[in-house]
Amino acid sequence: MIRINIATLFPAMCEAFLSESIIGRARRSGAVEISCRDIRDYTLDKHRKVDDKAYGGGTGMVMQAQPIYDCVRSMIEDLPEDANPRLIYMSPQGRTLTQDIVKELAAEDDLIILCGHYEGVDRRVLDELEFEEISVGDYVVTGGELPALILTDAVCRLQEGVLPNEEAYSNESHYNGLLEYPQYTRPEEWRGRRVPEVLISGHHANIKKWQEDMSLEVTKEKRPDLLG
Ligand code: SAM
Repeated sequence: MIRINIATLFPAMCEAFLSESIIGRARRSGAVEISCRDIRDYTLDKHRKVDDKAYGGGTGMVMQAQPIYDCVRSMIEDLPEDANPRLIYMSPQGRTLTQDIVKELAAEDDLIILCGHYEGVDRRVLDELEFEEISVGDYVVTGGELPALILTDAVCRLQEGVLPNEEAYSNESHYNGLLEYPQYTRPEEWRGRRVPEVLISGHHANIKKWQEDMSLEVTKEKRPDLLG
């Protein structure tokens, strides 16, 4: 079972998402273990300050090294002695998250994910703890919480006991390098649009062939780069 520890200034923001739906159920059933720690609880500043102005000037505050270091060190110390957690800093400067990276991380026992905020994080703590950096895309959001939740969600749904079976994720877009075929549900006809006949034929081999063909066609049309 994977253990994921998230270091953030906004644990309630993360908990709100992680307590609901499939991931919330997975946590309650013990299929995954996720906990969020408030970096502010580790500051040595008497006013509970965790950030300061950037050296060299510029707008915005930078998260200080000390509270992050102490928070992450305490997370590591609370893991079993033989644990070897992957330390990940969510950052627009990191490698862009793909399903292959998700699969790689899903095979780990322990992840520690650091969420930056404001202008980001004092570089020295990232270097000191040897964080790897992962981005959710070439754009910037206000904090690392949403990126961390995207990563956590994607990794958790590949864990045993989270989805009903392996087929629930292995057929989906990107898992095997293709996009998924179109999906339909009841009714058979809606606003004059019928569900493709093959899907209601009950002929399993034909349905499988249609799904494979459509998967290829959709990928060719929407993401020809994936077929490269
Ligand atoms: N000053 C930083 C820069 O230009 O590289 C951006 C800081 S951003 C406003 C604040 C925090 O949001 C970052 O420390 C990071 O944790 C998170 N963040 C923003 N965009 C992200 C992205 N595309 N992927 C992952 N994390 C991101």
